[in-house]
Formats: sequence, structure tokens, C-alpha cells
Amino acid sequence: MNFSQQLDSFLLTNSTNNFYLSQTIMKHLAAILLLFLIASGCQTSDPRIELSRHFELWKVLGSSAEGQPIYYNECGTGDSVVLVFGCFHGDEQEGGQLVIRLAELVNLQRADSLKNRIVFVPIVNPDGVAQRTRTNANGVDINRNFPTKNWSAEATEKRYTPGPSPASEPETRLVMDLLERYKPALIITVHTALHVINYDGPAKEIAERMAKHNGYRVSASIGYPTPGSFGTYAGVERNIPTITLELPPVAIDESWEQNREAMWTVIGRR
Ligand SMILES: [Zn+2]
Repeated sequence: MNFSQQLDSFLLTNSTNNFYLSQTIMKHLAAILLLFLIASGCQTSDPRIELSRHFELWKVLGSSAEGQPIYYNECGTGDSVVLVFGCFHGDEQEGGQLVIRLAELVNLQRADSLKNRIVFVPIVNPDGVAQRTRTNANGVDINRNFPTKNWSAEATEKRYTPGPSPASEPETRLVMDLLERYKPALIITVHTALHVINYDGPAKEIAERMAKHNGYRVSASIGYPTPGSFGTYAGVERNIPTITLELPPVAIDESWEQNREAMWTVIGRR
């Protein structure tokens, strides 16, 4: 069993029982994995490790194609709900890290000033994160797998493989179920590394408020066709304000500085 598999099986165990013991083991395992990664010269950006920093915040929402747990955190009260997603794409790990940091900030430091409910899902695609691939374990791009009117079975490139049918993937269906359950007032998904605030649906004003803090360009188009994308599913076809925050290609500490208040101003005070 390699370290990644150990972490995976540990995360799975932790979701069921023996919470306190598991948490202790988790910390040790995360430390060992971190040392291993540093020693082997790898980047230490796996957001699954960062979940362990405050593991008490996270509950299991569902599982990936390979049976890995997909975690979420819900905080705040009220009818107005914001959904925040990271790592639709497994090779965009800084997005997951940013969502985890944001959940920690809101839960541990700003809960008293929170005006609405927020649901954080930092790692939608844990199989892709484990394999450092854009796609999930079935080789499908989740962000081309939503059942939109323009869904197409044809992939323009292999990395954009839309899957055998719309919503064929468990990760896609899990996201769709959340929209159905929470009827969100705003959705933000965090990606890398196009350095832009892209929006779908009635979210221009929200994107511009974020841009005042992070200075990113605001754009209604990502610049290429995206059939079956989440933005089209949620923003265009369901008229839910949907922001796709594309981080620049910088270290997580820098993008966190750029986006901490940009995110808080639109997700925490609705
Ligand atoms: Zn992406």
C-alpha cells in the first residue's frame, strides 16, 4: 500500500466510527505523508491532507467513482444558501486548498458575523486528486458531464471527455443533488489557472464585487465552448448566479491573500 492509498483508506475509515482514535491516526499519517512528499521533492499541495487540519469540520456527503469519500461542511443558518465547490478537476489542487481555508476561516473565526448558510465541498473529484488528473477515475471530465441542452458525446480533446451519457458520473450526480436539496442563491466553483472571474447566469454584479478585492478580470465567457459544463447547467439553464473563480498560477498562500476577502464579501453577508 502506498501513502496515497493509506490516506484514502484512512479517510474512508474515519468517516464511519472511532472518531477520536481516527483523528489521532490521521494527524500522524498526514505528517508522515507530508514528510514523504517533501523528502521525495513532490509538491505538497494535496488538499486531502489539508482536510486533516480541522477534520472535525468535515462530514461525508457521498463517494466517488472509485469509492473515495467526498466531504462537505455546512455552517450558518437561514434560507439563503451559498454552495462553494473545489477540485472538479483533480489537477487543480489549489482550488481545493482555497475552499478548505475558506471553510476554516468561516467556521472558526467568522461564524458570529455569518448572515446565511454556506455549504463547502472542497474536493468534488477525489479520484482525480489522487491521480493528479483533470478527469475522474473513469476518465470523464465532470465539467463536461452535466445534462445541459448542449451536452455532446464528442470530446474536443481527451481531457474534455464528456462521458458515455449526461450525468453518467457519481460526482456529477452528487453536485446535482446538492442543487436540488439546497436551492442555492449563489454558487462558486474554484478552478486554476486562467486568472479570471467567469460568471454564468445573473452573477455579473457579484463577480464585480469580488474583482474589487482580488483585481481579477471579469468575463462572461471562458473563451472556448464548454458543452455540458456546470456553469451552463446551473447558471445559464437554471438562472442561479454561478461564479467560476479561476485562480492565477501562483502559490496557494498568494491566491489565498488575493481571495480571502473577495470570497467572504459575497458568501458570508447575503
Ligand atoms: Zn478546472
